[in-house]
Amino acid sequence: MARNLDTTTARPATLAIHGGERPDPATGASSPNIVMSSTYVTDKPEGFSASELTEDSPFVYGRWGNPTVRSLEEKMALLEGAEACACYGSGMAAASAILLSLLSAGDHVILPDVCYAGIAELGRDTLPRFGISISKVNTSRAEDVAAAMRPETKLVFLDTPCNPLIRLTDIAAVAKIAHDGGALVAVDNTFASPIGTNPLSLGADLVMHSLTKYVGGHGDAVGGCVCASAELIRRLTIEATVHHGGVLSPFNAWLISRGAATLPLRMKAHQEGSMALGRWLEDHPSVEAVMYPGLPSHPQHNLAATQMNNFSGMMSFRLKGDGKAAAKKIAANLKIAHYAVSLGHHRTLVCYMPTDDLLASSFPLDTEQEADYRRYAGDGVFRLSVGLEDPEDLMADFDAVL
Ligand SMILES: *Cc1c(COP(=O)(O)O)cnc(C)c1O
Repeated sequence: MARNLDTTTARPATLAIHGGERPDPATGASSPNIVMSSTYVTDKPEGFSASELTEDSPFVYGRWGNPTVRSLEEKMALLEGAEACACYGSGMAAASAILLSLLSAGDHVILPDVCYAGIAELGRDTLPRFGISISKVNTSRAEDVAAAMRPETKLVFLDTPCNPLIRLTDIAAVAKIAHDGGALVAVDNTFASPIGTNPLSLGADLVMHSLTKYVGGHGDAVGGCVCASAELIRRLTIEATVHHGGVLSPFNAWLISRGAATLPLRMKAHQEGSMALGRWLEDHPSVEAVMYPGLPSHPQHNLAATQMNNFSGMMSFRLKGDGKAAAKKIAANLKIAHYAVSLGHHRTLVCYMPTDDLLASSFPLDTEQEADYRRYAGDGVFRLSVGLEDPEDLMADFDAVL
């Protein structure tokens, strides 16, 4: 029954289904079992240290490794074209695994001026307490990254398309600048998904996902992962997995693997629905602007067309008039889309991000960065995660509330 998928030739749709999985050798079960055990019986009584863990080590203890989680790690590594992957209990645990495992006191890190709010706040509130200095840079301008590099810069962290502006960063251009200065590059690839962009193939050293979003895809499991070289993942495993301990539960790994199997198919549908809804919104009399990488109106559409194999389902739009008042009406009256945070689910999700509130709570920006933010966002944007419902039904749902 041993079946060995040829992972060097299999394409993403096949890897998403079969990667990291094989029929159960004991029962022949075609679908994977969930292994919930927190410990493992051994007949080798000699001691075993977590610092000696390798990919081939037997399973010993649930925090050090779990077969169901390992299977998802193999699938994600294959989808990102990475040597290895480590899963964590959330996207934030994956981000802190990168930042707190690879940086030390005296190091400097470049973070995006606008990115997922949790990561912006981790950079602002947590890293300086450990003696790590940060620069917040508009990474969509590669020259700004070059200007911020210092001799002690160890890491450049990117988020593209970025939350909530849907502004892009040229990963290959920034990777060259970072590497010339001796820094590693990590990319938060949550918005693009591995089907949209493979940052490692563009020169990045690490890629992270909130698996809670597109990869899981159904809004029922929180998780995160980091994909990178075997050597970097080994460093993360010892530090973040074994010492910090924010591991993914086997049940969530099983749910996320089940979602990942249909990721390529879902991303196609997310893109198709987003193109239709984006065009429709652009023509709507209440709409001021739409930011979606797949539309020619996006200021970086050319970069999107070369860097992304799929434009994903994330867009932002601005309304004419008072956004906050419109948000109240929209939240109260939508019948299909859910007014909620999060993204990447089969259900359409929308929420309003008022500029003044966001700049005060998460993104303290300098004058030029704030001007650029406002150029995209005005007083506020609606962040829309286009789900898998019929686009015509979504248009009718929004038409009734805009
Ligand atoms: C949601 C999200 C995160 C954090 O992930 P959690 O699973 O919520 O911890 C990080 N980055 C991006 C871009 C996200 O959308």
